[in-house]
Amino acid sequence: MGSTGCRHCASSVETNIQRNGALHYGMIALTLDDMSENLKPSETVLRSVDPVTGSQVAEFPVTTADQVAEAVGNARRAATAWAALSVDERRTELLRFKRLIHARRNEILALLTRENGKVAADAEIELTLTLHHLDWAARHAGRVLRPRGVRSGLMMLNQASRIERKPYGVVGVIGPWNYPMYTPMGSIAYALAAGNAVVFKPSEFTSAIGQWLADTFVAATGRDGLFAVVHGWGATGADLCRSGVDKLAFTGSAPTGRKVMAACAETLTPVLMELGGKDAAIVAADADVRQAAQALLWGATMNSGQSCAGVERVYVVEAVASRFLDAIAAAAGSVEAGRDYGPVTMPGQIATIARHIDSGLSDGGSALVGGRDSVRAPFVDPVVLVDVPQSSAAVREETFGPVVTVNRVPDVDAAIAAANAVEYGLGAVVFSKRDGESIAARLDVGMVSINDVISYGAVPALPFGGNGGSGFGRIHGEPGLLEFTTPKAVTRRRFRLPVEVSAHGRRRRDEWALTAISRLVGRR
Ligand code: NDP
Repeated sequence: MGSTGCRHCASSVETNIQRNGALHYGMIALTLDDMSENLKPSETVLRSVDPVTGSQVAEFPVTTADQVAEAVGNARRAATAWAALSVDERRTELLRFKRLIHARRNEILALLTRENGKVAADAEIELTLTLHHLDWAARHAGRVLRPRGVRSGLMMLNQASRIERKPYGVVGVIGPWNYPMYTPMGSIAYALAAGNAVVFKPSEFTSAIGQWLADTFVAATGRDGLFAVVHGWGATGADLCRSGVDKLAFTGSAPTGRKVMAACAETLTPVLMELGGKDAAIVAADADVRQAAQALLWGATMNSGQSCAGVERVYVVEAVASRFLDAIAAAAGSVEAGRDYGPVTMPGQIATIARHIDSGLSDGGSALVGGRDSVRAPFVDPVVLVDVPQSSAAVREETFGPVVTVNRVPDVDAAIAAANAVEYGLGAVVFSKRDGESIAARLDVGMVSINDVISYGAVPALPFGGNGGSGFGRIHGEPGLLEFTTPKAVTRRRFRLPVEVSAHGRRRRDEWALTAISRLVGRR
């Protein structure tokens, strides 16, 4: 299934127009209510469209359950040869893959704009991050995964012990559409570098980008089947979960994550869960308020707010609140959807964004920037809501749009308590000149940026992932490589001890010696 026959075809360009409350996406007229339904043109063909014009970008035959199983079987055969290579050989091939992505950069940048709606700057950021991570994984796998000797302890003094790291075999990767290259490659690059094969199911909204990645890998390495793509909707993802993969790396929403875990439980397939977030930012009294406002507005709106670790809530300490509100309003005044960031990729998300703006306002908040009129599908201009109660859906649920709530709090303690009071625990941001570290230490999240936003995602050596409702396991960095291997314990007897431990028929003095060791270890 290395290539499932992409047929790029540019059909007539349809413009999105809003008529009588119905949004026209391409040729299909949708109301806000029925936009939560995925576009499913047929059961056997999957078509991806340009989210701005609605014109078709590509179509793929939907991969059947048998074909998913076949792809996994092919990947398993390819994995044996791949795992048998030396670390240096794998690094050479992965760096060749990276260089070919770079050489074909104009193709993928265009596709990120056409199929995913990214403006040029957001596409360039995604490409750069992907190259950075692929490079890091390729270059560091040898060091991170080499066998590590460990002390054998008093009882096993005569043993030489080590931990080896073994690839799982075939890793299934299910990815989202918001960063269709960077996010799945956070699993794919690290899984490959660790010696696994990969079968990838991209989001139905970004299937051409997923196919492009696999095709480029085959072109760079000549290895068919080692990194394969299967296409389809959720059912294809479920088929992948049940296909006998040795590990499943899932990135997506928490509700889908639960379904993936349930499917994987049937076969005891281990899972990595990178789920959603509702990231908070804290602005302390000693923050550089202007810098904080500009950075947080960017963190809330870049990529149209469709970032798992995007800033969706700000807690600003009362002492600097009015200065902060003036600064964020001023910063937002010059930002426009369609120019500074792209459209909302998934039509169904528009309804969620609109609902969160409505509930933020009806629950008692007020609009500092924008409001309901900012939703002009497929675009949404920046929306800043102020003093929205913590119980509101706008504060508790993932919005995944360029909407941010700003709540005034009396002090940093109140800010930390409010930041921690949601079910998610992905990332967080702190702006404070003196207390950044101590505030960061009290946040129940997997990642924190101090005096900057989301910068951890661009540091390849740092693990990426969250706690609680944001999932478990990590991509990126050393933990991201370890995640795609299993530890294997090996110990070798080097010489015979005067005291025999591992045998029946021990002598009396062996028993005494054992008791003496036990007492020694117990007492110290
Ligand atoms: P979804 O959960 O809707 O889908 C994720 C993937 O799972 C898609 O490929 C989807 O296919 C597939 N899928 C759907 N149903 C099933 C099923 N029953 N079994 C197996 N696979 C299935 O998420 P989105 O694509 O909407 O992505 C946005 C979400 O991802 C947000 O919540 C965001 O926060 C999160 N995210 C988390 C990141 C992190 O690292 N923590 C990074 C980026 C995003 P299809 O699309 O074809 O339905």
